[in-house]
Amino acid sequence: MPEGWIKAQLLSDLRDGIAGHYDTLSGNVSRNLFVDKARTPGTKVPGDRQPESSWWAGEHEGYWMDGLVRMAFLTGDKEYIDKASKKIDAIVAAQDSDGYIGIYSKETRLKSYTNGYQEAELWTQSRIFQAMLAYYEFTGDKKVLASVEKAVQLTLSAYKDKGLSYFKRGGNPTQGGAPHGIAFSDTLEQLYRLTGNPIYRDGEIWLFTDFSNSLPNTDISMDMLSEANKDKPWEVHTPHIMESLALPQILASLTGEEKYKTAAANARMKLSWHTTPGGQIVGDENVKGRKGTGTTFGEYCSFTEGVIAMNQILAYSGDLTAANWTELVSLNGAQGARFQTTNRATAYLSCDNRLTTDAKNKHGGRLLFSPSHKAAACCTLNATRLLPYYVDGMWYRTADASALVASLYGPCKVNTEVAGTKVAIEETTTYPFEDSVNFTITPAKDTEFTLIFRIPDSAANASIEAGTDAKITKTPGQIEVTKVWKPGDQVALHFDFEVQLRQTNDDQFYYQRGPLVFGLKFPDKLVQTDFKFELKGKDSGFKEYNVVPTEKTGWDYRIDKAATFQLVPMENSDPLKPWEQSPIGLRGQMFNSAGKSEDVTLVPEGTTLLRRVTFPASSPTAQ
Ligand SMILES: [Zn+2]
Repeated sequence: MPEGWIKAQLLSDLRDGIAGHYDTLSGNVSRNLFVDKARTPGTKVPGDRQPESSWWAGEHEGYWMDGLVRMAFLTGDKEYIDKASKKIDAIVAAQDSDGYIGIYSKETRLKSYTNGYQEAELWTQSRIFQAMLAYYEFTGDKKVLASVEKAVQLTLSAYKDKGLSYFKRGGNPTQGGAPHGIAFSDTLEQLYRLTGNPIYRDGEIWLFTDFSNSLPNTDISMDMLSEANKDKPWEVHTPHIMESLALPQILASLTGEEKYKTAAANARMKLSWHTTPGGQIVGDENVKGRKGTGTTFGEYCSFTEGVIAMNQILAYSGDLTAANWTELVSLNGAQGARFQTTNRATAYLSCDNRLTTDAKNKHGGRLLFSPSHKAAACCTLNATRLLPYYVDGMWYRTADASALVASLYGPCKVNTEVAGTKVAIEETTTYPFEDSVNFTITPAKDTEFTLIFRIPDSAANASIEAGTDAKITKTPGQIEVTKVWKPGDQVALHFDFEVQLRQTNDDQFYYQRGPLVFGLKFPDKLVQTDFKFELKGKDSGFKEYNVVPTEKTGWDYRIDKAATFQLVPMENSDPLKPWEQSPIGLRGQMFNSAGKSEDVTLVPEGTTLLRRVTFPASSPTAQ
């Protein structure tokens, strides 16, 4: 359960932000498609700001419900718990007798391309099942789990059990709703984890095999991730890639086959090529082979789906380095693509270096900060899901239940069972704004078990205090602490991060300290667009904005490779709202427009709307 700034941000987003009020500013999420079950594939229907593909609102309702359920229960907000519960109950109550839950009419549902047109059955189902399974995990309400199981078994019987392909189709098979269906894996993975029933494991193997064989040219196929194609960059729609990113690793774990291990390793390598300094994954819809730089755009949907995928990759591989990527995107690019502290407007496409969003007609308005973009509602809705999934990935338990693993850091409380004993852990920190993370461990009785702490990749000098009776083992990337834990025992972890000067794919440079990437902030002004977010004539109070600079000094500065930057405290920061006004900065020198050395203070990318992160370098000794 989140505490500190994480809980404060979730609560603020829920009570005053997009997350808790989407149904007042857009019709996209409240059409009750999973109750009515009446949509026809392949049609355009009247949308909120423009006609939409018939499956879009199914995606959007699922996203919204998933964010709403997770945020309501993670914060304990009774009003939103009640709201989310009523919506889940309505879907369960409307379930057809054969088990169907989805958005399509009786005549058009559960079709494959070979027996009639299908567009987004698995995708829309999986989005609402995420919300329903999260609800089950929070409440233990078995009727909701049973409802999802019945629906999923019906879907598997309609495709897998009949030997039909879901993904094989004509037209342009890598675009549209069908390839998103790979995210049905999220449902199957969660069901297998919750129930242990092998039909869900076999379903995952079927799903990825069908996807990979039907779409061999898509980026996460066994062919494109084979050794023969390991040098080929990614090309297609970034969210599709992120939704399928974990599958090779999951199948490697489920089958033990080498070919999947190779594919999983190649997927991780390619991900690093296309990641920007602030953790954004290149893609203004498609990647088109571009490597990540300070000026490549990334889509918010891919940030959230990437966090979900990396949580799964960490769980199935045990490789804690996956969390480095998750922290990079979650604590930099994603925080810097939304309003702070309350997310009332989000950028669909964001980038590390941003001097203005004043580009109403560029990228279909996707650069604007909006509560719901004209192009689609996906990204603003995925912005509600990111932090809940970050929380989801903070702690793990080893498969033999002998150890707990701290993977992503931040203020939180854990109540769980390890080595047969109930254990409560309180994690106290303002991470990523401080290097120290303190843990208070309270087992129900004195019990021996192991705590495994991930060491972030830039913390070479990490130290730990856990009492003289602790057996401490340090290996690259992690510290294991084993002892007989007594109620109230303390662990103090200190990372002692160094400021690092890093080079980009386009030969620019930037400063990173621990998980935080720093940049030069430009003062901004919000200019409203003329679009009104109102439903049935009622103004929601939400607005869409161009963000423009009031001062541009510094945009043409250069990095002095010989300069040293020091961590400094910043004033007027609220520990519960650190992204609004950073509590820390980096002070040092850069070369100004005249080539003269000038004192500057850099702040975390996630605390800015307009900033420059990557700069060309010049040094006095350069020739
Ligand atoms: Zn999107």
